[in-house]
Amino acid sequence: MTAPLVCRSCARPGAETFLDLGRTPLANSLVTADRLDEPEPRFPLAVAFCPHCGLVQLTESVPPEDLFRDYVYFSSFSDAMLAHCERMAGELLADRRLGPTSLVVEAASNDGYLLQYYQRAGVPVLGVEPATNIAETARRERGIDTLNEFFTRELGERLRAAGRRADVFHAHNVLAHVPDLNGFVAGVRAVLADRGVAVIEAPYVGEMIDRCEFDTIYHEHLCYFSLTALDRLFRRHGLVVRDVRRVPIHGGSLRLYAVPADSPEAAPGPAVRELLAEEVRRGIDRRDYYADFAARVATLKADLVGLLRRLKGEGERLAAYGASAKGSTLLNYCGVGAETLDFVADRSTVKQGRYTPGTHLPIVPPAALVERMPDFTLLLTWNFADEILAQQAEYRRRGGKFIIPLPEPTVV
Ligand code: ZN
Repeated sequence: MTAPLVCRSCARPGAETFLDLGRTPLANSLVTADRLDEPEPRFPLAVAFCPHCGLVQLTESVPPEDLFRDYVYFSSFSDAMLAHCERMAGELLADRRLGPTSLVVEAASNDGYLLQYYQRAGVPVLGVEPATNIAETARRERGIDTLNEFFTRELGERLRAAGRRADVFHAHNVLAHVPDLNGFVAGVRAVLADRGVAVIEAPYVGEMIDRCEFDTIYHEHLCYFSLTALDRLFRRHGLVVRDVRRVPIHGGSLRLYAVPADSPEAAPGPAVRELLAEEVRRGIDRRDYYADFAARVATLKADLVGLLRRLKGEGERLAAYGASAKGSTLLNYCGVGAETLDFVADRSTVKQGRYTPGTHLPIVPPAALVERMPDFTLLLTWNFADEILAQQAEYRRRGGKFIIPLPEPTVV
């Protein structure tokens, strides 16, 4: 079942498939009511490990034009995400002594959810956002200068040639989405000022494997990073990872601080050295670490489906919360749909009124939990569990319960 695959980072063949989730619809392609009868395109979803550079990656790519055509995720809709961004911008404003002559560039800048904090502090910003409707929102509603394109090597070089060098370059939860990984990182090196820093966040593969977070796998996420794999990728393009932090976002991410290899700051700090050593100790850089993941995922599926079936059989009414991409992977892989769950609640007004990919659950406002009082609600956005449980205090007070699916199904 292992197809010959050329690694997206080191370009060598020999990556080995260790998990196959079958053919699934695109996780962010929500369905409108008038298209419910039409077949949805499905694509293979399988993950492989490169034994040469340690990168975990999908075995096949869906063309980005298909993925981003109707992209409806607005980061600003999450309070936890905004708080996380404001803290980070505050730290960088102080640490890098940014001012009116500095420049902060962000790849996949979305609606300006992060750059707004720099702009408010009087620091010039430039967003790069491939989704046309979202780039327009950033310009119109926040006044953020935004280029409507993908960040690439060519764009990094173009900005550099125009004298637009970044003192801080941000890329959050985007590296995993990039088809041309080497081109992207080369572009970062090109646009970065001599004393600039690139701040890059990506979900951590160690967290995904340890916590059985298989639902973070979907077609948009081409790569699942260890620090070992990132360090090799960045060094290839003249960047040195000098600091790393574990951040509790998207189920556990790494935040890297990378600088040009000829910068005076270009030495791996203690956190980098420690995490690299920990990855060697735990074997995250070797294939054995991934060997039993498929069996663990299959066990989780059996447990979750068993629980939902039992509750349904006892006459309980079930719903879900969070029409997210990870929810789409979970529901499609587990084969759970409208026969089990009455609806899925989601705060995003852009998603409400549409249906989940493959499983066709109607997406409704969160108020539906209290209005319709399902006995149990499957929490698909478990990465925002604290926030959502707090928002849904009234539902819980009236006896509603949540099912957290990972790392093992738990009722709270
Ligand atoms: Zn490789």
